[in-house]
Amino acid sequence: MKPNQRILAWARKEIVDLKPYASAREEFELDKRSMILLDANENPFQNGLNRYPDPLQKNLKKRLAEYKQCTPENIFLSNGSDEFFHQLMLVFCRPAKDQIMILPPTFGMYKVCADINAIQTLEVPLTSNFQLDVEAILAQKKKNTKAIFIPSPNNPTGNCFAKADIKAIIEGFDGLVVVDEAYVEFAEGKSVLPWLGQYDNLVVTQTFSKAQGMAGARLGMAFAHPTLIDLLNKVKAPYNINTMTQEKILQRLDEQGVVTQQVQQLLEEKERVLAELKHIRYIHEIYPSDANFIMIRVDDSQQRYDRLIAEGIVVRNPSKNVNCENTLRITIGLQEENNALLGALRNMDI
Ligand code: PMP
Repeated sequence: MKPNQRILAWARKEIVDLKPYASAREEFELDKRSMILLDANENPFQNGLNRYPDPLQKNLKKRLAEYKQCTPENIFLSNGSDEFFHQLMLVFCRPAKDQIMILPPTFGMYKVCADINAIQTLEVPLTSNFQLDVEAILAQKKKNTKAIFIPSPNNPTGNCFAKADIKAIIEGFDGLVVVDEAYVEFAEGKSVLPWLGQYDNLVVTQTFSKAQGMAGARLGMAFAHPTLIDLLNKVKAPYNINTMTQEKILQRLDEQGVVTQQVQQLLEEKERVLAELKHIRYIHEIYPSDANFIMIRVDDSQQRYDRLIAEGIVVRNPSKNVNCENTLRITIGLQEENNALLGALRNMDI
């Protein structure tokens, strides 16, 4: 595979030139003999965790590549997607020089990562009905805009963006387009992962934290051109995905029937909750959702939030986001949890 020159030109020169840390064991991985491992100063007494994990997570990536219909060279694994956003910025954005573009209301971590790394954030708001403003995005990008972050389904609004709009941005932008598909299992047919081979500037992220039910294991996946994955591998901590996570995720990949069933159940619950919310008078608007949460607009979100807390129910109040005044974001829970939520909301309808 020839390295992609466009990706190398976007990356920070220090990273392209970086000689990464290499463990001695990696150099001998093609040697099929059972080796005596005296290279890494581990404790040799076996307990299942006494050895360092595979730094490139080869078994896990092989399974994921089959499952996601790509190659292991297209995959980068991180300690949740949150960690990946840091690493992407580290590879591509020069502190105090480069910028990223975000599209508020949007997921909060992109700006936090940029702030930590001294990277400027350019904000181009979504339209009033929470769609991509393609024209404004392409008009406002600058020479030093290195990446545009598009969560689809979007958080906090819950909707997926039109594929044609995402495509127009990928094709019209000379930089990376990160399509964050954290909730995509709830939105059948909406993933842009099948476009991977078509666009060298497309990065798709997914996670085991949401539909996959493994938030505690911390595993984020990024799918991109192998040249980009190689750069990420250079900057990551050598053993960033621990053995327990690698094993648990492999197990979870054998349980995809359960995941599909749970997703179906949550989608049915979402429809039921949506129907019930329509009867509550202080809920002025219910936004279309392609995710496992619903954003609603109420009369006074702080008051409703506080009253739910008093009932022992925690939702999210994203009202400080652009165009989200007086909104609440509600995750779909178990049936009895949703019933408790609906009961509490109905009791406040006075
Ligand atoms: N992207 C979006 C859009 C999210 O809402 C979240 C979690 N709130 C994440 C990424 C983070 O995922 P992870 O748990 O894999 O870090």
